[in-house]
Amino acid sequence: MRRARADLKVGPYISIVSLLLLSCLIDAEARQQSVQQFDQPQIGARSPRNASYEIDVTLDHAARRLTGRETIRWRNISANATSELQFHLYWNAWRDLESTWLRERRLAGSFTPPRADAWGSMDVARVRVRGVDLTAQKRFLAPDDGNTADQTVMAVPLPFAVQPNETIDVEVEWAAKVPRPFARTGYVGDYYFIAQWFPKLGVLEDTGWNTHQFHAAAEFYADYGVYDVRITVPQGFVVGASGRQVERTDAAGQTRHRYRGEDIHDFAWTTSPDFVEARQTFTHPALPRVEMRLLLQPEHAGQERRHFDAAAAVLRYCGEWFGPYPYDHITIVDPAYQSGSGGMEYPTLFTAGSRWIAPALVSQPDRVTIHEAVHQFWYGVVGSNEFEHAWMDEGFTTFSEARVMETARVPNYLAPRFFGGFIPWPIRDIPLARATDGNRLPGYRTNAEADAPSTPTFRYWPATAGVISYNKTALWLHTLERYLGWPILQRGLATLFDMGTFRHPTPDDVFAALNGASRRDLGWFFDQVYRGSNTFDYGIDSLTSVPASARGFFLTDDDARFEPETDSQGRYRTTVVVRRHGEATFPVDVLTTFEDGSELREQWDGAARWKQFTYEGMARAVSAQVDPDRVLLLDVNYTNNGRTLRPRGAEAAAKWSLSWMLWLQDLLLTHAFFV
Ligand SMILES: [Zn+2]
Repeated sequence: MRRARADLKVGPYISIVSLLLLSCLIDAEARQQSVQQFDQPQIGARSPRNASYEIDVTLDHAARRLTGRETIRWRNISANATSELQFHLYWNAWRDLESTWLRERRLAGSFTPPRADAWGSMDVARVRVRGVDLTAQKRFLAPDDGNTADQTVMAVPLPFAVQPNETIDVEVEWAAKVPRPFARTGYVGDYYFIAQWFPKLGVLEDTGWNTHQFHAAAEFYADYGVYDVRITVPQGFVVGASGRQVERTDAAGQTRHRYRGEDIHDFAWTTSPDFVEARQTFTHPALPRVEMRLLLQPEHAGQERRHFDAAAAVLRYCGEWFGPYPYDHITIVDPAYQSGSGGMEYPTLFTAGSRWIAPALVSQPDRVTIHEAVHQFWYGVVGSNEFEHAWMDEGFTTFSEARVMETARVPNYLAPRFFGGFIPWPIRDIPLARATDGNRLPGYRTNAEADAPSTPTFRYWPATAGVISYNKTALWLHTLERYLGWPILQRGLATLFDMGTFRHPTPDDVFAALNGASRRDLGWFFDQVYRGSNTFDYGIDSLTSVPASARGFFLTDDDARFEPETDSQGRYRTTVVVRRHGEATFPVDVLTTFEDGSELREQWDGAARWKQFTYEGMARAVSAQVDPDRVLLLDVNYTNNGRTLRPRGAEAAAKWSLSWMLWLQDLLLTHAFFV
């Protein structure tokens, strides 16, 4: 089901047909231009499948090591020949203190020196292409910062050029030390979460290889393919992985699990003897069935329904709003306590974030499950470049997460946690609002100018990168929802999802989709929220409402005379001055309310630094508000948006005093219970 298409059911039949034909032609043209031009999917394939991996990996549980071999079938879908291959070796980010990842972590101030056994590494033992051993030619590159100590990008020169649309098989053998958790990857006790774990090709674009180093604040980017992976673990260990299990063999105390995932751009897996498994099927009258598999920590038994309901809400609403989830399976992993691997997305598999105590009013674990399930759409299916445009997956996911939570009515109250996060305390007086809390407005406000989103993400200041990628994007998307209306924004997002499915859309594709859906040029808005770091802040500068008497010289028919004070005859003159405090501009309404209940609403383009509105009438003004409907959620200071001539401080004080009394009473009762 696709609402964008349903919206075309207007006007006479003949125009529907011509519109559909036209949109098909535009679609086809856009596809040809926006993706690698040699994209020729095989029969039965839904993605280009130009980077497919057959991997055989064994976990040595005692030594905490992986040994693996892989054959990559790679097709050059760029416009140009290449004589080099470039690989990501992500685990080398935790090889020593001088990796770019750890340097950036230190810069962000979020770094504690790892324990001696915590380090990870990845060593490539052999690279062969068409039978030629190229191992001796491998070298490390540092395209982003020239850091010669970084070993997360490996280049291998080829003895021949791979022409456009030519396919080669690449064989790689490697060994890796599993770290204690870094970036969701590693082991704790018997639990392993294994991500970014195999030598993985970068993306060859028309301009050359796009293979960034591993950065602290940016994620990943890869082409689509088929993953056929054999994972050998000790017998009794449960395995969860991207794709579906197709085979299982037991031998000599070990079990080999074979998983196959089609049309995906990455592959992650987890294993532990402790997982408790549950399954449920998602069904919907207009969307494909999806088998949901949950691997739960035993201490979280009883939370199955919350994970399944949350994932099903995403499959339903994102399916209805953007387009159907294209796989028939999804795996939810509840990570082990203190594994640091919660809340991360991988194709057809993600990690959630359960807590032992999860009362119904607290939106955990639901919120994390919803967020990561949404990533299956904005990351898994729409494969944007996370090194350079993290806002395209994180921002769109944060926005959609908040919208799903509100639509599915997930209970969501302010719930501070105590005793090291162990005990949540939901405050029923404070339900969290989608507009502000779901979009993370408080976090944005304090770091709003940290970076312009058009800066490649890996160059964002590491400590505030998330604020720009997640919060600012969610806020501008929600602002557009309020400005254009949800049906228009939804149509734009559905168009983007459709054209971006199994592809690598760019920021310009986002803007084209939203301009197209709104039939407007929103360039003025994108220039400010994407290409700039200016902030929005409108405020009421002054509000006066006084008797409309006059003093001064007045011309009469035959004379000019001075009147010290004329009779206002019950009339009031109201003056509202609204001011733009921020550099960024946005059209805003200005609403003035009068004592008799009447209102006057003005539209202001918001371009000048200030504007005055003057009214004369029989009623005195009570209040004035700029942006009264709060369309502009990016406004960094909402407290100056209104002024009133009738202060309500006493009411606020009474409300808060009563709330405090209630809380205090609760606290005393709790205390009395224990003594
Ligand atoms: Zn995310």
